[in-house]
Amino acid sequence: MLRAGMIRKVASWIYDWLPMGLIVLKKVEQIVREEMDAAGGQEVWLPVIQPKGLWVETGRWAVYGKELLRIADRKGSEFCFAPTAEEIITDLVRREVRSWRQLPLMLYQFGLKFRDEIRPRFGVMRAREFYMKDAYSFHADAGEFSVYYQRLFEAYGRIFKRCGLQFRPVEAVSGAIGGDTSHEFMVLAEAGEETIVTCAACSYAANLERAESAAESIPAANHADLLPLMEVPTPGVWTVEGVSELLRAPKSKFIKTMFYDADGRPVVALLRGDHELNEEKLTRALKCRALRKSQDAEYRDIAKCEVGFAGPAGLKERSGRADLLIMADHAVRSVINGISGANKNGMHLSNINLDRDYRPDAFADIRVSAPEDLCPRCSSRLNFSKGIEVGHTFQLGTKYSEKLGAVYLDESQKPHPIIMGCYGIGVSRVVAAAIEQCHDADGILWPEPLAPFGEHLICVETDDAEVLAKADALFEQLQSLGLSVLYDDRDERPGVKFKDADLIGLPRRLTVSRRTLQQQSVEFKRRNSAKSELWKLSDLPQKLQELTAPI
Ligand code: ATP
Ligand code: MG
Repeated sequence: MLRAGMIRKVASWIYDWLPMGLIVLKKVEQIVREEMDAAGGQEVWLPVIQPKGLWVETGRWAVYGKELLRIADRKGSEFCFAPTAEEIITDLVRREVRSWRQLPLMLYQFGLKFRDEIRPRFGVMRAREFYMKDAYSFHADAGEFSVYYQRLFEAYGRIFKRCGLQFRPVEAVSGAIGGDTSHEFMVLAEAGEETIVTCAACSYAANLERAESAAESIPAANHADLLPLMEVPTPGVWTVEGVSELLRAPKSKFIKTMFYDADGRPVVALLRGDHELNEEKLTRALKCRALRKSQDAEYRDIAKCEVGFAGPAGLKERSGRADLLIMADHAVRSVINGISGANKNGMHLSNINLDRDYRPDAFADIRVSAPEDLCPRCSSRLNFSKGIEVGHTFQLGTKYSEKLGAVYLDESQKPHPIIMGCYGIGVSRVVAAAIEQCHDADGILWPEPLAPFGEHLICVETDDAEVLAKADALFEQLQSLGLSVLYDDRDERPGVKFKDADLIGLPRRLTVSRRTLQQQSVEFKRRNSAKSELWKLSDLPQKLQELTAPI
């Protein structure tokens, strides 16, 4: 985008948008606006400087952390620069809406957001300042809301389709914005930061954070040949990798023992050595509010050994904590004659077996899904691919309306909190995502609906007055036909112009030169094809109009 002259960097992860970039941004914006209007939305414009008081009311002033850019005015009143607008919109609605008669209501806006991201990357893809469409819907009735959520979900599908992008909606975890159900819209691209898990057979699709692993993905071991439990010295070696090397055993033979604190209660999570814990899933399995990794001192206090040497055998007795909860991932059932810590410094156990040597309090799906897992809906194979999150829809429920007191009166004048949904699209991210999905080694290949211009007209010999005059005339003519044309009449070498045309990536290139004019023609080439052809000047208008006519 920098090389193609779409953006320029101002400060770290803050950009100027130049004319060519802005045209694309506005095209995305317009598609989004049309679909929001079609879904019954009304556009508003909310401030980016938001008073601290509203954020204190929802409790997010404290929890949002350093991502929130906080500012003070000359009187010392505190504000933040909007990272999102749930507070501001709910405040507006609590002042405007009184009765069930005013609902449902959907308001949306386009605006700048600022998030002081820990790891900004890939230019405008994850910038600190970015351009977002955020929409919020307000409802009196849960049933009516779920119908509306579905309608918005479909509008989102239409938006990305109209942008000409390959995408996939997936089930997601709601994150800092909160609420119950949420979906993310992913543009499929190798460069994506998100891993998408999709079923090869049914419609199941989730992001990696959310993806479930069917309990039967990894069959439980057949407990026939149990070998005697043994202590093996592993002095100074406590990682799965280290012990695995020392004992020449694969990581899948290990039972990892991890210590957590869930709302003040000690929890031990058991996982197969080659799997990763998914804290989101553990939180849900425990139904706890706040989950955190135990500190080393808490670990030592429970296992009575140094960090890295704990294991499930005899752990509960040893800890003396009756409230200790041991939760194992389903795949732990597949470990037979396994290896774990021995709850003694410098010692591991080999041939540890479920039921004989330890028994977890519960089994649950608490690991990060892996390609060997089966679909939780239909037990078929799962595919893992990469995507870029461009949109997010949330069912907020009454989370914000309760905290801010946004209520409506029903027919019998009884107050109820308003049910809310919220729907974001990273408009500036869509531009970057489109490029990630549609490019080759030479540059961008714009999908037609987002291309800043349709035709790239190149005049090769600008020093030849006759050629230049013909090319100028053609530029005027094509524009008068309503085509959008970028005209390269710079005094540059042809090679430079062709390279730039590939970089900028407009769908069609038209080249006018002495050679083509000798044949009363222009050279026509599509960006996505290596072939070029000569088109008669007289045929050109009609042929181009046919190509660009709306279907
Ligand atoms: P992510 O997981 O990528 O950080 P998020 O869950 O924080 O996204 P939301 O709060 O749902 O994002 O914001 C709505 C949309 O805004 C996202 O779907 C994404 O397209 C876009 N977005 C979020 N953060 C950024 C950013 N730093 N730069 C550009 N676009 C962003
Ligand atoms: Mg984020």
